[in-house]
Amino acid sequence: MPEYVVSACLAGCHCRYDGEATPDERVLQLIREGKALPLCPEQLGGLPTPRPPFELLDGRAVDCNGNDITPAMLRGVEEAMHLVQLAGCTKAVLKSRSPSCGFGTIYDGTFSGTRITGNGLFADRLHKAGLIVHTEDHWQGE
Ligand code: SF4
Repeated sequence: MPEYVVSACLAGCHCRYDGEATPDERVLQLIREGKALPLCPEQLGGLPTPRPPFELLDGRAVDCNGNDITPAMLRGVEEAMHLVQLAGCTKAVLKSRSPSCGFGTIYDGTFSGTRITGNGLFADRLHKAGLIVHTEDHWQGE
Protein backbone atom coordinates (compact mmCIF):
# COMPACT_ATOMS: atom_id res chain seq x y z
CA MET A 1 0.00 0.00 0.00
CA PRO A 2 1.49 3.40 -0.89
CA GLU A 3 1.77 5.50 2.25
CA TYR A 4 2.13 8.75 0.29
CA VAL A 5 0.19 10.51 -2.42
CA VAL A 6 2.51 12.79 -4.41
CA SER A 7 2.03 15.41 -7.10
CA ALA A 8 2.64 13.73 -10.44
CA CYS A 9 4.78 16.65 -11.62
CA LEU A 10 7.19 15.92 -8.74
CA ALA A 11 7.36 12.38 -10.08
CA GLY A 12 8.61 13.67 -13.42
CA CYS A 13 5.29 13.64 -15.31
CA HIS A 14 4.92 16.51 -17.77
CA CYS A 15 1.52 17.45 -16.39
CA ARG A 16 2.07 21.08 -15.38
CA TYR A 17 0.08 23.83 -17.07
CA ASP A 18 3.11 24.64 -19.23
CA GLY A 19 3.73 21.00 -20.18
CA GLU A 20 6.78 20.75 -17.97
CA ALA A 21 7.70 18.45 -15.09
CA THR A 22 9.40 19.36 -11.79
CA PRO A 23 10.98 16.08 -10.68
CA ASP A 24 12.18 15.78 -7.11
CA GLU A 25 14.67 13.01 -6.47
CA ARG A 26 13.23 12.22 -3.02
CA VAL A 27 9.76 11.76 -4.53
CA LEU A 28 11.15 9.61 -7.33
CA GLN A 29 12.77 7.41 -4.70
CA LEU A 30 9.48 7.02 -2.82
CA ILE A 31 7.89 5.74 -6.01
CA ARG A 32 10.78 3.38 -6.77
CA GLU A 33 10.25 1.89 -3.32
CA GLY A 34 6.52 1.45 -3.91
CA LYS A 35 5.63 3.98 -1.20
CA ALA A 36 3.93 6.67 -3.28
CA LEU A 37 0.97 7.11 -5.59
CA PRO A 38 1.49 9.96 -8.11
CA LEU A 39 -1.61 11.93 -9.15
CA CYS A 40 -2.40 15.13 -11.02
CA PRO A 41 -5.83 16.46 -10.01
CA GLU A 42 -5.89 18.97 -12.86
CA GLN A 43 -5.47 16.28 -15.50
CA LEU A 44 -7.93 14.02 -13.64
CA GLY A 45 -10.46 16.84 -13.95
CA GLY A 46 -10.12 16.63 -17.73
CA LEU A 47 -8.07 19.78 -18.21
CA PRO A 48 -5.70 19.69 -21.21
CA THR A 49 -1.92 19.91 -21.05
CA PRO A 50 -0.62 22.49 -21.72
CA ARG A 51 -3.41 24.72 -20.38
CA PRO A 52 -3.80 28.31 -19.23
CA PRO A 53 -2.61 28.76 -15.64
CA PHE A 54 -5.27 29.44 -13.02
CA GLU A 55 -5.34 30.86 -9.53
CA LEU A 56 -7.91 30.81 -6.73
CA LEU A 57 -10.08 33.89 -6.33
CA ASP A 58 -12.84 33.99 -3.72
CA GLY A 59 -12.85 30.20 -3.64
CA ARG A 60 -13.22 29.86 -7.42
CA ALA A 61 -10.64 28.50 -9.86
CA VAL A 62 -10.21 31.17 -12.54
CA ASP A 63 -7.70 30.93 -15.38
CA CYS A 64 -5.60 33.76 -16.76
CA ASN A 65 -8.21 34.37 -19.48
CA GLY A 66 -10.95 34.88 -16.91
CA ASN A 67 -12.60 31.48 -17.41
CA ASP A 68 -14.07 29.84 -14.32
CA ILE A 69 -12.81 26.25 -14.35
CA THR A 70 -14.04 25.38 -10.88
CA PRO A 71 -16.30 22.50 -12.01
CA ALA A 72 -13.41 20.70 -13.75
CA MET A 73 -11.16 21.22 -10.74
CA LEU A 74 -13.74 19.91 -8.30
CA ARG A 75 -14.20 16.86 -10.53
CA GLY A 76 -10.46 16.31 -10.57
CA VAL A 77 -10.21 16.58 -6.79
CA GLU A 78 -13.01 14.03 -6.39
CA GLU A 79 -11.34 11.61 -8.81
CA ALA A 80 -8.02 12.02 -7.04
CA MET A 81 -9.61 11.53 -3.61
CA HIS A 82 -11.19 8.30 -4.83
CA LEU A 83 -7.75 6.94 -5.68
CA VAL A 84 -6.15 8.27 -2.48
CA GLN A 85 -8.77 6.58 -0.33
CA LEU A 86 -8.68 3.37 -2.34
CA ALA A 87 -4.92 3.19 -1.89
CA GLY A 88 -5.09 4.15 1.79
CA CYS A 89 -2.55 6.97 1.63
CA THR A 90 -1.95 8.78 4.93
CA LYS A 91 0.64 11.40 3.91
CA ALA A 92 1.13 13.76 0.97
CA VAL A 93 4.10 15.45 -0.66
CA LEU A 94 2.74 18.08 -3.05
CA LYS A 95 3.99 20.83 -5.34
CA SER A 96 4.35 24.10 -3.49
CA ARG A 97 2.23 27.16 -4.33
CA SER A 98 0.06 25.37 -6.93
CA PRO A 99 -3.63 26.36 -6.83
CA SER A 100 -4.35 22.63 -6.68
CA CYS A 101 -1.45 21.15 -4.73
CA GLY A 102 0.02 24.08 -2.75
CA PHE A 103 -0.27 23.96 1.02
CA GLY A 104 0.18 26.94 3.32
CA THR A 105 1.06 29.41 0.56
CA ILE A 106 -0.64 30.07 -2.78
CA TYR A 107 -0.97 33.00 -5.20
CA ASP A 108 -3.66 35.60 -4.61
CA GLY A 109 -5.68 35.31 -7.82
CA THR A 110 -4.30 38.42 -9.51
CA PHE A 111 -1.57 36.67 -11.58
CA SER A 112 0.90 39.19 -10.20
CA GLY A 113 3.07 36.69 -8.33
CA THR A 114 1.67 37.87 -4.99
CA ARG A 115 1.70 35.12 -2.39
CA ILE A 116 -0.91 34.70 0.33
CA THR A 117 -1.66 32.19 3.05
CA GLY A 118 -3.90 29.44 1.73
CA ASN A 119 -4.17 25.95 0.35
CA GLY A 120 -4.72 24.55 -3.11
CA LEU A 121 -7.99 22.72 -3.70
CA PHE A 122 -6.53 19.21 -3.64
CA ALA A 123 -4.18 19.87 -0.74
CA ASP A 124 -7.00 21.35 1.32
CA ARG A 125 -9.18 18.35 0.66
CA LEU A 126 -6.41 15.95 1.67
CA HIS A 127 -5.79 17.94 4.86
CA LYS A 128 -9.48 17.89 5.76
CA ALA A 129 -9.53 14.13 5.12
CA GLY A 130 -6.85 13.77 7.80
CA LEU A 131 -3.71 13.25 5.72
CA ILE A 132 -0.44 14.82 6.82
CA VAL A 133 0.30 17.26 4.00
CA HIS A 134 3.75 18.58 3.05
CA THR A 135 5.04 20.49 0.07
CA GLU A 136 8.39 19.59 -1.44
CA ASP A 137 9.77 22.89 -0.09
CA HIS A 138 9.23 21.92 3.54
CA TRP A 139 9.28 18.14 3.49
CA GLN A 140 12.24 16.84 5.47
CA GLY A 141 12.05 13.40 3.89
CA GLU A 142 11.06 10.18 5.57
FE1 SF4 B 1 1.56 19.15 -10.43
FE2 SF4 B 1 -0.57 19.27 -8.86
FE3 SF4 B 1 -0.29 21.02 -10.85
FE4 SF4 B 1 -0.83 18.49 -11.42
S1 SF4 B 1 -2.15 19.89 -10.32
S2 SF4 B 1 0.72 19.76 -12.40
S3 SF4 B 1 0.28 17.41 -9.82
S4 SF4 B 1 1.02 20.83 -9.07
